[in-house]
Amino acid sequence: MKLLCTLSIFAATTFAVSVQAQSFDLVITNGRVMDPETGFDAVANVGINNGYITSITSEPIEGLDSIDATGHVVAPGFIDFHFHGQDPFGIKLGLRDGVTSPLELEVGASPLNEYYEAREGKSQANYGASASHVAARLLALDGLDNPGGLPLYTDAVNRSAKDGAKWTLARTDPLSDGRARIMATVEEDLKQGALGLGFPVGYYTAVSGNEITEAAGLASKYNTFILTHVRYLSQIPPSGYLGVQELLSVAQVNNVPLIVQHVPSNCLGLTGECLNLLNQARDSGMKIAAEFYPYTKGSSIIGADYLAEGFQETTGMDYSDLLIVSTNETLTKETYEKYRAESPGEAMIMSHIKEEDMLKAFADPYAFVGSDAFPFTDENGQILPWDSPYEAGRGHPRGAGTHALVLRMARERDEVSLMQAIAKLSYFQADFIDEMVPDMRQRGRLQQGMIADITIFNPDTVTDNSDYPVGQGAIPSTGIPYVIVNGTVVVRDSKVLPDVFPGQPIRNPIIE
Ligand SMILES: [Zn+2]
Repeated sequence: MKLLCTLSIFAATTFAVSVQAQSFDLVITNGRVMDPETGFDAVANVGINNGYITSITSEPIEGLDSIDATGHVVAPGFIDFHFHGQDPFGIKLGLRDGVTSPLELEVGASPLNEYYEAREGKSQANYGASASHVAARLLALDGLDNPGGLPLYTDAVNRSAKDGAKWTLARTDPLSDGRARIMATVEEDLKQGALGLGFPVGYYTAVSGNEITEAAGLASKYNTFILTHVRYLSQIPPSGYLGVQELLSVAQVNNVPLIVQHVPSNCLGLTGECLNLLNQARDSGMKIAAEFYPYTKGSSIIGADYLAEGFQETTGMDYSDLLIVSTNETLTKETYEKYRAESPGEAMIMSHIKEEDMLKAFADPYAFVGSDAFPFTDENGQILPWDSPYEAGRGHPRGAGTHALVLRMARERDEVSLMQAIAKLSYFQADFIDEMVPDMRQRGRLQQGMIADITIFNPDTVTDNSDYPVGQGAIPSTGIPYVIVNGTVVVRDSKVLPDVFPGQPIRNPIIE
């Protein structure tokens, strides 16, 4: 009896030890676990198995791998709906900034299946794209296809200049062949499992409201949402406010959820009014979200519609507020005209937002963060390889620093708590689309049963380091020593590990 008793104690002890030692693939110990959905905020240990968070406990746990998160916050991995820098170097900088799901939902990708195929097993972060109204117009009106489903078609935009860039200028008749071809491309990409449908109509303001409304009807048919860079980057009529009203109406008549991207960037001095309008629409029962990036300068292509002659009056900028990224050259009337005519796809940075307007979006209780990360290039405008020196990257600092900057602003300013900041970087995005995108139900939350996309940062030191001068645009954020994607550590000791590709597709079911 005594022996049996001893044996069973031995067995129980062995069992307990083996459960604790081997039951987790990875444990994160002693971190301040923060979950914006439940409000959970306590020091705890997190156990991860098979890519999922399987335990959050105050009891000691052990695993095959472990991270000591003492003094650090353990947060849901950041989700960014507005990430154009879909190349490996851009994704790497996103990871250093805590982003586990950098998605291209503004311009989108097409053919969508090729976008997903190109990233299978090769992406360090999760990936996904919207259906692209721009690509559909480039194909239907300029005859330019987009092999590989590359997002951000600057090459096609440049080539379209030769035939007068019909995608920006043509209106389509509802019964025309052109209209039918546009809708066919949009519908095919929605069937391929697109995450929403992007309408950056600020780049083709000649498009008819009727065409947008028809395409939004397809988004509704496939139970997804729409996103927009509205018409009119302007603070005098027709202003960004009018552009927001238009897309609200498109969303309402189609009963389709709407995300208005970079609100301060379009509404400028009317940002407060635009946010109020969106919040009123939400209060009335519409499913609406506002997005912003925490910078006062923007970045896009020099051929953008809103930079057409007369932009000085509509935007409050002058030629000298425009900078060509590759050459670091501030524009004059002559060089402005040359770039717009000869290489409208050239990346530029512009000074157009007042800090007080950007801060209105930061303080808005519902507005969430989208970096609008633009691909970093070398001095010839070429995308950089993964292992390039960070100093080599030219481009807007938002591609490297947006998320750490928001955390730093939460620390240095009073408007937003740390928990609200984390919600603006992860949970609000997941919560907005998870009724439509089943995959998102298990992301953006730090809870048992969720997918282990996790960002670990030091709340006292986390900071952006990127800035506008040449050589500083792509300097990575610091204070984010660990990033975990689908349960796999991809950033360890503040280094992105080479040849680790845990990124999964975030995609809706394909409809045959
Ligand atoms: Zn935009």
